[in-house]
Amino acid sequence: MRIVLLGAPGSGKGTQAKKLMADKNIPQVSTGDMLREAVAAGTRFGLKAKSVMEAGNLVPDDVVLGIISERLEQDDAQDGFILDGFPRTRQQALDLEELLDQMGTPLDAAVLMDVDFEILLKRLTGRRTCSLTGKLLNVYFSPQEELDACTAAGGELIQREDDNEQTISNRLDVYRENTEPLIEFYRKRGKLTTVDADGTIDEVYERFAAAL
Ligand code: AMP
Repeated sequence: MRIVLLGAPGSGKGTQAKKLMADKNIPQVSTGDMLREAVAAGTRFGLKAKSVMEAGNLVPDDVVLGIISERLEQDDAQDGFILDGFPRTRQQALDLEELLDQMGTPLDAAVLMDVDFEILLKRLTGRRTCSLTGKLLNVYFSPQEELDACTAAGGELIQREDDNEQTISNRLDVYRENTEPLIEFYRKRGKLTTVDADGTIDEVYERFAAAL
């Protein structure tokens, strides 16, 4: 299964991709995660990407394409993948199409995670990661026991650098301008499936799996 996950920041793409990965044993390929790893590793490229990401802007298309094409060549991606956060521009979508054509492995579907704006904002501003377990939590939506369990065990609830209000607002603008048009792009190619991504993680996953 080769799929692209579309949706605004905070629509739950990463969470749902991780669930699908565990369920179907196909890798989640997240350009955001790969870029954050480069930043954390302090590579020359990571240092350049850092300020772009902190401002909520897009890293240049050719850079992201380089990362993706290397990743899709790896063994674990040969039987399928879930692209999370890529493509984000029309150029990236065209590049992906060309890359997959060359590999003879076209995309099966582009799945849009559809969520109301108000919910997006809460998901983004409330998002935290437990420093001990890496578990993704949300101060508005996670059960209080889960939030308390992290801090009681000596962990901290960490907020992503780009989850502050100013950056969030820019990321949503960047999404509207650059990425939202991809919905139409994939609709025209007959590949678009929309999932109502409002609800608990399990409810959304049920709809997502059914849509596939
Ligand atoms: P994400 O974790 O998907 O929200 O991505 C975090 C940040 O990484 C984005 O705000 C961008 O700065 C950068 N990024 C991730 N994926 C891409 C992409 N496909 N194209 C350009 N920039 C990206």
